Amino acid sequence: MKLSRRTFLKLSGVTAATASLTTVGFKGVAEAAYLPVRINYAKEVNTICTFCGVGCGIICHVRDGKIINTEGDPDHPINEGTLCSKGSSIFNVSYIYDVKGEAKPNPNRLTKPLYRAPGEANWEEKSWEWMLKTIAERVKKTRDESFEQSAQVAGQNVTVNRTNAISWLGSAFCTNEENYLFQKMTRALGIINLDHCARL
Ligand code: SF4
Repeated sequence: MKLSRRTFLKLSGVTAATASLTTVGFKGVAEAAYLPVRINYAKEVNTICTFCGVGCGIICHVRDGKIINTEGDPDHPINEGTLCSKGSSIFNVSYIYDVKGEAKPNPNRLTKPLYRAPGEANWEEKSWEWMLKTIAERVKKTRDESFEQSAQVAGQNVTVNRTNAISWLGSAFCTNEENYLFQKMTRALGIINLDHCARL
């Protein structure tokens, strides 16, 4: 019989449950039926792993506005429930476990934009408004100052409409679709030096 991953997991679950019931006896069965399940009453929110371009599907279990669990999405066509070590640890981007095994907000998670001015050694917190406005202003200024409409190529003057003064690096923390939009935007600006850390 050919088993799909999902059927295999279901059968494994039934087998494990049967073994547990046999071990604990009837009283244990009654008690086990009332054991709280970690993801009880949690809402399932589907998302895409942000670590690399494979784009595996992940289910986030959310309760009271907080993620309480993440796991591979068995219905996702790319990973069919599996996750590599990076995807399996994505819960720890937001939360870490303390010595009692309770999830606490990860103090290392960045929640605000950081800016390091030219020549400075230290980073300072900035608002999103300041950051986006500053990036937009600098991109426009640099593009205006460096834009070439034409250039000499093989002895001929040809239209190039480009800037060589800006480079752009896509992020694996964005989805494939977001990175697609980034490269469309950069090409529209005439930026020809663009890449992505996962070489999308
Ligand atoms: S990092 Fe791992 S889990 Fe995440 S998309 Fe890539 S292969 Fe999938």
